[in-house]
Amino acid sequence: MKYLLSQIAAVVGGKFSGTDCEVQSVVTDSRSLTCELGSGPMFVAMCGANHDSHDYIAQMYARGVRAFLTERSVEPLPGCGYVVVGNAIAALQCLAAYHRAQFKGTVVGITGSNGKTVIKEWIAEELPAGMKCYRSPKSYNSQLGVPLSVLMIEGDEQLALIEAGISKPGEMERLERIIRPDVVVFTSIGDAHQENFLNLEQKCNEKMILAHRARTIVYHSYYEPLGRMIAARFAERKLCDAAACPQVPEAVIGNEASRRNAQLVEAFCAAMGYPAPSFSEAPEVAMRLEVKDGINDSVLINDAYNLDLNSLALALDYLHNVALSRRRTLVLSDIAQSGLTDDELYGRVAGMVSRAGIDTLIGIGPKLKRYAALFDCDKEFFASTDECIARIGRRAVAGRAVLLKGAREYRFEKLAHALARKSHTTVLEVDLDAMIHNLNYFRSKLDFRTKLVAMVKAGSYGAGDFEVAQMLQHQGVDYLAVAFADEGVLLRERGITMPIVVLNADADSFDQMIANRLEPEIYSFRSLADFADAVSHAGEIRYPIHLKLDTGMHRLGFMEDEIERLCGELPKLPAVKVASVFSHLNCADMPEEDAYTRAQIARYDRMSAAVAASLPYPVIRHTANSAAIERFPEAQFDMCRLGLGLYGFGWEHNPGLRPVSTLKTRIVQIKRLEAGDAVGYGRAGKLLRPTVTATVPIGYADGLDRHLGCGRWSMRVNGRPAPIVGRVCMDSCMIDVTDIPGVGEGDEAVIFSAEPGNDLETMARVLGTIPYEIMTSVSGRVKRIYLKE
Ligand SMILES: *Cc1c(COP(=O)(O)O)cnc(C)c1O
Repeated sequence: MKYLLSQIAAVVGGKFSGTDCEVQSVVTDSRSLTCELGSGPMFVAMCGANHDSHDYIAQMYARGVRAFLTERSVEPLPGCGYVVVGNAIAALQCLAAYHRAQFKGTVVGITGSNGKTVIKEWIAEELPAGMKCYRSPKSYNSQLGVPLSVLMIEGDEQLALIEAGISKPGEMERLERIIRPDVVVFTSIGDAHQENFLNLEQKCNEKMILAHRARTIVYHSYYEPLGRMIAARFAERKLCDAAACPQVPEAVIGNEASRRNAQLVEAFCAAMGYPAPSFSEAPEVAMRLEVKDGINDSVLINDAYNLDLNSLALALDYLHNVALSRRRTLVLSDIAQSGLTDDELYGRVAGMVSRAGIDTLIGIGPKLKRYAALFDCDKEFFASTDECIARIGRRAVAGRAVLLKGAREYRFEKLAHALARKSHTTVLEVDLDAMIHNLNYFRSKLDFRTKLVAMVKAGSYGAGDFEVAQMLQHQGVDYLAVAFADEGVLLRERGITMPIVVLNADADSFDQMIANRLEPEIYSFRSLADFADAVSHAGEIRYPIHLKLDTGMHRLGFMEDEIERLCGELPKLPAVKVASVFSHLNCADMPEEDAYTRAQIARYDRMSAAVAASLPYPVIRHTANSAAIERFPEAQFDMCRLGLGLYGFGWEHNPGLRPVSTLKTRIVQIKRLEAGDAVGYGRAGKLLRPTVTATVPIGYADGLDRHLGCGRWSMRVNGRPAPIVGRVCMDSCMIDVTDIPGVGEGDEAVIFSAEPGNDLETMARVLGTIPYEIMTSVSGRVKRIYLKE
């Protein structure tokens, strides 16, 4: 895009003031590096539910931004131009609709419950050579994501692929007005985001609004009732049912949903008159960015699925967030199909690499090598990925944050494998996007002034330490809480700078805590006196502490009859300053105990008010955990403590939350056994029929509870249940795959996931325990992998 700021004001009906200038890109996240891309970034400030980005205007000015779109008038800065609007998102939508109207190429809208990003990337891969195509980055498909992606269209592309996602009625109409697709591709229809719709028909009707003005519609009649509804409603349009396209053989693409996706891509190419694609495999290489531990204490960020300038900019942003104090290495391949001349393309890449503070560039491919002189960091070039794997120096990796960003034909997954820290094949995948979704779900229940503590004790309920904390810091959570000082020290060493509370602070670790700016929970007169001593020893004053009150749980904390003495002692201890005073509601998830909980909240209110009144400065009061946020809005006070909910579980089953963890492993051996045979220790797995078993390398030492053996739990293989046969061993167990066709060694077996029936709530019922216990039992030897859009 390229508009004068005054022109933007006219398009969106905003009030213009200050100096006019040319705008070529839009930035909404103040932490983004992409704003330096090109010459004219416009920063958009909005008042969100949880923060107000008008606070960042001065910072953006310091970084060189001169154009601002704001929701209220702000103090003018020299040389800047402003557009003031009532609602910034609505203004961006309006500007995007205008920009779309200027575009002469073909616009393809992609919607559906699942597979939007896969189909978009797959289509982009299969386009005729030499065609300039734009695709929306990642899954930028929301009310804000769609306008941002439409505004990134440069104008001379032949084709623009734009994803549209909705979560409630009314949203598609706005997206249709912006995208105005000439062609619409419908992917699958399923029950994702179903909670805001009355039924599936209503959701299908809403999605169909995207095709309101489209000439051509591609869909798959397998997905009912959508297929039937499209055929009836759009009878007069060019309708392409992908079910009519030839099926890719099962031997080439094993997964059924992927075979249907392949048909959708074929139907699209046919509808557009493009050559038929030839599929050699499904593009199921990590669709999302993966973060994991690398060799020599490095962190690997693997974003090897696709490569274009937009996705490179986003990945560099993410590297910047994760790297914190580490040095940065970028491993990059040549970029294909950009539609730009090589001079311009690699000139832009070099600018991005330099702005992202890359210390070392490893370039793979002939073009990068040719443009080597443009890069002013440490650099090394290889002709192929294999050569890089064979010769990459350990120094370029050791201790660093390493971003792998390669086009698909460069096969960076081999490189990722070579650079990953080796451990056994069982992994716990943690979905950071699901966690952000859950965080926002709970934030939406809180007053916007209410602060939030994220409970990351016990390695974030088993989900891992640093990456989760880093994400929460980035999301602007106010405090983290850990159980023991060691957990906090680890986070500090990795670069987490936000306030951290230690819940079980014992006197032996006070010095270490003070050295690392960790704030203790103080629950007794003894811990108060000891900590104040330690602070004085360290030569500090007014060190923040958090007072714990016992309002009925009887674990730790000051009792009500101790409050008067406590109020008397605090003023005599200048070494400490009370940052907050809190208590824990031990029955907030039990409706039958609500009378008790209400009395407990009243007691907390009384006790904490007395403490607060005795101090000459304000203190934060908090008592609600996840269940209380949902069930006792009156217990919000100044802050809430979010634990279980962040990881995707409510006090009762809540379809609005997304479980974040998936535990999976791979089959190492398959056996065909006779009826009458028996499997495992004690011959406990008696076979009543001829049975195919698969051995998987996960046992009770990994956290797979022994009580799940002998058929009490089923893993999932190819989406179907595979019951555990016989007893669970220490490091492995056997599962029954007789009824699942085509299972082979190396195939994935999922122990638990977000899938109904395979989920942690169901497992907890089988074991007679709670999801908390299972989550925190996954052993430390199971590697954690973090997934991110
Ligand atoms: C663990 C913990 C929480 C979080 O509880 P959830 O039920 O997981 O939300 C809150 N407060 C304290 C003191 C805790 O120890």
